[in-house]
Amino acid sequence: MAERQWTIGLCWRCEGTEEPVMWLGPVSSEYHGHGPFYACAPCVQRLEELVVEYGARRDT
Ligand SMILES: [Zn+2]
Repeated sequence: MAERQWTIGLCWRCEGTEEPVMWLGPVSSEYHGHGPFYACAPCVQRLEELVVEYGARRDT
């Protein structure tokens, strides 16, 4: 599993600032290239749930 590191900054999901956030991957914009998608702990938790649901659907 890739190493995940927390840093302090902006959550790109809920837009909370000065939060411990984790880099989850690049975001691609139609017009503006790429940006780093950071998410705070509650948002990471929610995204984890969505990934689990996505994986469950994919298996059916
Ligand atoms: Zn957040």
